[in-house]
Amino acid sequence: MHDHDDEHDHAHRHDHDHNHYSDMQARVKALETLLTEKGLIDPAAIDAIVETYETKVGPRNGARVVAKAWSDPEFADWLKRDATAAIASLGFTGRQGEHMRAVFNTPDTHNLIVCTLCSCYPWSVLGLPPVWYKAPAYRSRAVIDPRGVLAEFGLTLPPEKKIRVWDSTAELRYLVIPERPDGTEGMDEAALADLVSRDAMIGTAVAGSSEALS
Ligand code: FE
Repeated sequence: MHDHDDEHDHAHRHDHDHNHYSDMQARVKALETLLTEKGLIDPAAIDAIVETYETKVGPRNGARVVAKAWSDPEFADWLKRDATAAIASLGFTGRQGEHMRAVFNTPDTHNLIVCTLCSCYPWSVLGLPPVWYKAPAYRSRAVIDPRGVLAEFGLTLPPEKKIRVWDSTAELRYLVIPERPDGTEGMDEAALADLVSRDAMIGTAVAGSSEALS
């Protein structure tokens, strides 16, 4: 278990690919510089592509998972029991050894995901992590003061609502299943998916916020 409500337990295994990742980043940067110098690519165009994957393409996978969970109780039950398999059934799979767990928001409990040590993130359903997710401020404060962090994201939860913070690792990554907004009865899965933002699946927003529609 990697959740911690009050105190921060960090005894979990976290032996993942930091070195490969920074190697990879260095190689990508070197390649980008070379191609830019040769006039073959435009860095602004690359930024635009990354932005698209970060905010649009990647998180649409997760939104489909959420919309199906809202629409299909059997799928929701499967997602609770074995998120890795349920998500894979929709064609979204991670690298070998990467397991998914879906954490469901309820009227009593709000879930928030973080990686306190680095930037483990559910790539297969959310695409690229936003810059703030990798920032030391978010990684430390999400654990120490989740309510304060959420308020800074514009999400003020009632004081009686419990916040559970889930610390991702290379082996186990989380997807928040937000609560289905009121007034969405009769909407089909595609329309429901449009209500689900990337941030709602990290837990820094709720579904159906205006930001989901941007
Ligand atoms: Fe990590």
